[in-house]
Amino acid sequence: MTEAGFFDANALISVLTTEPLGRALDYRAPEGGCFLGAFVEVPLGPRRVLGVVWGAGEGGFDLAKVRPVTRVLDAAPMGDAMRAFLTRAAEYTLTPMPAMLRLATRAPGLADPPGPRRVYRKGWAEPDRMTDARARVLDILDEYGGAAFTLGELAGLAGVSSSVVKGLVKLGVVAEEEAARDLPYPALDPDLPGKPLAEDQARAAGQLRGGIAAQRYGTTLLKGVTGSGKTEVYLEAVAECLRQGRQALVLLPEIALTAEFLTRVEDRFGAMPGEWHSGVTQTERRRLWRMAGEGGVSLVVGARSALFLPFRDLGLVVVDEEHDTSYKQEDGVLYNARDMAVLRASLADAQVVLASATPSLESWSNAEAGKYARIDLTSRFGVAEMPELSVIDMRNEALEQNRWISPTLARAVSARIAAGEQALLFLNRRGYAPVTICRACGHQIGCDHCDARMVEHRFLKRLVCHQCGETKPMPAACPSCRAENRLAPVGPGVERLAEEVAARFPEARVAVLSSDLFSSARALKDAIRAIAEGGADIIIGTQLVAKGHNFPLLTLVGVIDADLGLQGSDLRAAERTFQLMRQVSGRAGRSDRPGVAMLQSHQPDHPVIRAIVSGDEDAFWRAEAAEREAAGMPPFGRLAGIILSAPDAQTVFDIGGELARRDAPLRKIGAQVFGPAPAPVARIRGRHRVRLLVKAAKGVALQPALAEWVAQIRLPANLRLAIDIDPQSFY
Ligand code: ADP
Ligand code: ZN
Repeated sequence: MTEAGFFDANALISVLTTEPLGRALDYRAPEGGCFLGAFVEVPLGPRRVLGVVWGAGEGGFDLAKVRPVTRVLDAAPMGDAMRAFLTRAAEYTLTPMPAMLRLATRAPGLADPPGPRRVYRKGWAEPDRMTDARARVLDILDEYGGAAFTLGELAGLAGVSSSVVKGLVKLGVVAEEEAARDLPYPALDPDLPGKPLAEDQARAAGQLRGGIAAQRYGTTLLKGVTGSGKTEVYLEAVAECLRQGRQALVLLPEIALTAEFLTRVEDRFGAMPGEWHSGVTQTERRRLWRMAGEGGVSLVVGARSALFLPFRDLGLVVVDEEHDTSYKQEDGVLYNARDMAVLRASLADAQVVLASATPSLESWSNAEAGKYARIDLTSRFGVAEMPELSVIDMRNEALEQNRWISPTLARAVSARIAAGEQALLFLNRRGYAPVTICRACGHQIGCDHCDARMVEHRFLKRLVCHQCGETKPMPAACPSCRAENRLAPVGPGVERLAEEVAARFPEARVAVLSSDLFSSARALKDAIRAIAEGGADIIIGTQLVAKGHNFPLLTLVGVIDADLGLQGSDLRAAERTFQLMRQVSGRAGRSDRPGVAMLQSHQPDHPVIRAIVSGDEDAFWRAEAAEREAAGMPPFGRLAGIILSAPDAQTVFDIGGELARRDAPLRKIGAQVFGPAPAPVARIRGRHRVRLLVKAAKGVALQPALAEWVAQIRLPANLRLAIDIDPQSFY
């Protein structure tokens, strides 16, 4: 290899592929040579597979048998920082490198040859007549805004044949263009005037700008109540990053939020950023992936997997709502995007901003320990004030059977409606009723494939398993005792609450916001916009509404069951309840009208409920931190979850037991192993599940010990073993 990282033709190189092999393979550099980090196609047996030039070859084989690289792909080579990131992330999460590379190459058509191609967009004409198929094409064009599609992609998304699209092209309803492949994104202008900042905002922005200008690694926790202007402030950090000519990434937890955010970016910088999440077309994904590598996009807004884009020169990662559980990927490669953002930035001399009104205990204590800088925005911007919080003691409220809104809360709701304002009733349970029971025999309807009760969804007219998604119609007779018409719902979900609301407030316009009630991200966005514009008097919502949406008319939040999250033995139950309740309460009174939040609780003296109401957040964190520290729990100790699953219960217990017995590699580092125990959800999709939990002190080398421990055991083919480092959920 030359100093510039170039391999001449026929040089022996090592190529990491996306195939599940134990290691990188040796090849010969192609005619014309290739750069270190180049994306290549290599022969593997009879196939050709995607790979990245990872270094010099190992050698030790018959050189004549080493095959040459088939071709070098038309993409910028992966940089050193990115390769280092993938390696370290793989070590941390105990993920094989090929799986890591697959995460980093999730863009379709990477191997397609360069050159112009045909793309399809929304045209200028209206169709002469409308058919179902045509309407579906128009819906897709609308849903994705001005995005470009390939013919197959547009037809596929709309579920029509390509001749329907072609027909619309003839009419000018769909425009067909020759696009030069993958254009760069329009430049953002950091020097357009931003909003004039309030004093504390300006100070915060200045501090963040300083970090960016230094072009060194650093992480800052930006803590501020909802509405304090965190977004406004971190956009100034983005501006500084753009001025430095480096790329910025903003991670958001919820797709539904991006529309609002994109508009803010456009207002601030005069153009749209690149967008990366599951709702983006394949064509745009490919374009963004390539432009990230070439430097043709300066700001990307995306979901957690955007962290694995091959940025050429990443200067800033913002993790908004950093406490949000959706940053943890819970299947496939188990990683926490918040932690990986810090890792990636540290390898790229970049800054991280973790923004939240209710930070995770991890980030809070990293700031306490001085590892992260901390900036607090303590007041809401302008006249908006934090809502006043109070508890409704449900032990003193008279409730009829199958009613969940207390008289006190009902009065408050009526008063808001009378004043022309909005009320939000929060219940974190989708569907109609969480349990369906037979009144004759007591049988509860469960899922056939999982160890879970099925949830009635009345809008869908079906029972749904929230574990595996299996649905079935509501049976007429009890599946156990065959009694007819004796099945009854128990407990409320949002749909049932909506029934109560309709009965109690017949005049009110009611909107239910629950993720399963919307067929697309677009439909949800529309509903949220309509509510924000005053299209409902009462909003009934699940945790979907807790996240960032702005409802200016909303002045009352009623939490139907504040105790819900406190049940169960989850390590983070208190933390999560605290965060969720504070977030939801923060929805009230975002503009000039003050808000109130009322929490219905049967245990108003519970320390968590008291902490929520008192508003002394640091006191809550300190108490929670002290408890975890005493127990050696994260973030003061380390955990790893092992999940074994197989179609047969005996196998999982046998292997689990063997792992527990052969714990010498763990004992060497002073770690303990607990279990095996049946997982709380002991069966999912017909697979039996067993968990083990490894607990270690903070400073030890946990991952190598785990790898050595697991490697001792030969796993049967039908058994799956997943290792979850720093588990967030324990289901
Ligand atoms: P957060 O991200 O902390 O919830 P935002 O940045 O979204 O807060 O700000 C809340 C609202 O206040 C937004 O509508 C925003 O435009 C507005 N706002 C915040 N700071 C300013 C400012 N300095 N000038 C004008 N409007 C502001
Ligand atoms: Zn199921």
